[in-house]
Amino acid sequence: MNQGVLDNIPHRLRRLPDLAYNLLWSWQPEMQRLFERLDPDLWEATEHNPVRLLYETANLEAASEDAGFVDAYHGVLRAFDEYIDRRGTWMGRVYPRMEGPIAYFSAEFGLHESLPIYSGGLGILAGDHVKSASDLGVPLIGVGILYAQGYFRQRLNPEGWQEEVYEPFVPEMRPILPARDLDGGEVMVTLEMPGRELHLKVWKVEVGRATILLLDADIPHNSEEDRALTARLYGGDQRTRISQEIILGIGGVRALRAVGARPSVFHMNEGHAAFLGLERIREIVSAGRSFEEARDVVAGSTVFTTHTPVPAGHDAFSPELFWEFAGNWPAQIGTDGDGLWFLGHKEEQWGATFNMTVLAMHLSAGRNAVSRIHRDVSMGMWSYLFSKDGELTPITYVTNGVHTWSWLSPEMAELFDERSAGRAWREAAQDAGTWSFVPEIPSKELWETHNSVKRRMVAFANRRLGIQQERNESPRRELDPDALTIGFARRFATYKRATLLLSDLQRLRRIASDPDRPVQFVFAGKAHPADNPAKSFIQELYRLSEGELAGRLFILEDYDMNVTRHLVQGVDVWLNNPRRPLEASGTSGQKAALNGAPNFSVLDGWWPEAYNGHNGWTIGGEQEYSSTEEQDAADAESLYRTLEESLIPLYYDRDAAEVPEEWVRVMKESISTIAPTFSTQRMVRDYVHRLYAPRAVHLERRF
Ligand SMILES: *Cc1c(COP(=O)(O)O)cnc(C)c1O
Repeated sequence: MNQGVLDNIPHRLRRLPDLAYNLLWSWQPEMQRLFERLDPDLWEATEHNPVRLLYETANLEAASEDAGFVDAYHGVLRAFDEYIDRRGTWMGRVYPRMEGPIAYFSAEFGLHESLPIYSGGLGILAGDHVKSASDLGVPLIGVGILYAQGYFRQRLNPEGWQEEVYEPFVPEMRPILPARDLDGGEVMVTLEMPGRELHLKVWKVEVGRATILLLDADIPHNSEEDRALTARLYGGDQRTRISQEIILGIGGVRALRAVGARPSVFHMNEGHAAFLGLERIREIVSAGRSFEEARDVVAGSTVFTTHTPVPAGHDAFSPELFWEFAGNWPAQIGTDGDGLWFLGHKEEQWGATFNMTVLAMHLSAGRNAVSRIHRDVSMGMWSYLFSKDGELTPITYVTNGVHTWSWLSPEMAELFDERSAGRAWREAAQDAGTWSFVPEIPSKELWETHNSVKRRMVAFANRRLGIQQERNESPRRELDPDALTIGFARRFATYKRATLLLSDLQRLRRIASDPDRPVQFVFAGKAHPADNPAKSFIQELYRLSEGELAGRLFILEDYDMNVTRHLVQGVDVWLNNPRRPLEASGTSGQKAALNGAPNFSVLDGWWPEAYNGHNGWTIGGEQEYSSTEEQDAADAESLYRTLEESLIPLYYDRDAAEVPEEWVRVMKESISTIAPTFSTQRMVRDYVHRLYAPRAVHLERRF
């Protein structure tokens, strides 16, 4: 299959590159174990990147002589081929005749830590969407950007201030390959930029049965300045931002054409990709249609997902900047300046802007928010756009989920295999009935499995903390594997209120330091490089972790998917306290819940749809407040009180065998009620039924 660029592979293991270059391994523990077995130290040192591992390991010859390894290799290869070649998929059964693939555009994709082209929840959701599409047999081609320096690595200096480190990214050492056109040549596309042309190289990532195309400006054809356009995710100024969005939207459509793809539906994951609609209008107009016809055809075959009510999440460009880039566009799309401007026009406090969310709304007939609450909030924000059309529900919602197999610990998965009759829970994870075995798992077994995963997480965190503490010359402090451990990890955006817990320090100290019922908190997360208020939150937590709350509160640096996996699998409780109603959905709590770490969360995003009184805890209620101060104070009080009165007593209420029966009951309820509904296996089906299938008709049939 993949030729790869590796020529040092022994003949007996010659298909190792096929395995390495398909990210299927990122959700198949046996495949990971094969690479780990080949070179355990390098596996850790390369961030679990099998391509770099194959380049750098000295063990290939020895492995090819090792009968045990060769056997394991053949076993894994068989599973790989079965997965890739599998016929009877869900999609094949339910929509055997759907035309053309879905093109899924996203500025970030969180697939694995070895491919750092994501910053947070939006990217992880995109990655999980693609993986479930692959599992379900939904034909999908992703389109994104290859950021030459990825997202930054986070260091916390001795003052607790975040420093950003950008590491060079060698594409040849990553699980990506140059995309090929129908004749086998490497794919390049060209864009018009003000006064010059921009050339983009197209890479591809194989994700099971799905493919993602990544656009890369860092090639010798471009000027130094242009080569830097795709250097950093969410880096640079407005000019960089609009350039990246032109690369993604317009370059993305051209890349699809260059590889011969004919998608029937285009999905804009957030407004960053909305220029794709203009490029498609240009194509149709140049084939002889009018602007209005083209616009309707494009909207009729486009799906748009909005992801946040927070203003910073909606890109908007000044008229000067927009027209500098878009000066030639009106003629190309068959309209005039007003016709184009209207598509993205939004009145802002400081004047009119060209807003990418407005553009996306105008160029999509299928629009969705990512939870029920978020739908209501989004309708409030955007209803003025629709009032003229007379549509009643112009924005629907598909609540986010997580890719079960990427986030469930292998230990728990094994326990589930043992305790369920058959593999139904694996085949139909979205079906609540297949999880009905969970309440029947003997409490002691579930508890012990959780604790063994927790010890693994604690060892990982202590290793990381050791490195941080040594570099910053701090005293050695370690997590206690026996203490109630509460996790909080996500991007540090201020509305997520990472410091709410610190509102009453004395009370927090009293809660955390009871020698009979100790509690510890683990934090992790990156602040956007330009977000100083968020960096101050990190600093506040860091200082307390070195001072008043030493040994009770920890902050791990460089949050990424690897850190997420350890935390959501190993902590006892997952804390989430955003300022309601700003959390569109949130997904990290779904990952934790699946692993038996119940949510302790504000009733925002997905949580009101999941909470049933027995599967976790809430913070605050659903009322509205007249000020954020009042809201924060009420939520902090609720947080402390629930910890003191419910959570901690329940966790430490042990039976004769040291098992907290009632706590384990909450764990079971958390797993069995949340795992099915909040899986991308459910979510992607919803997208197919409600948003893709109704639009999947080939373009030429639309006229
Ligand atoms: C899941 C995940 C997120 C999303 O976290 P929320 O709490 O839902 O905001 C962010 N970053 C990483 C690395 C994740 O794995």
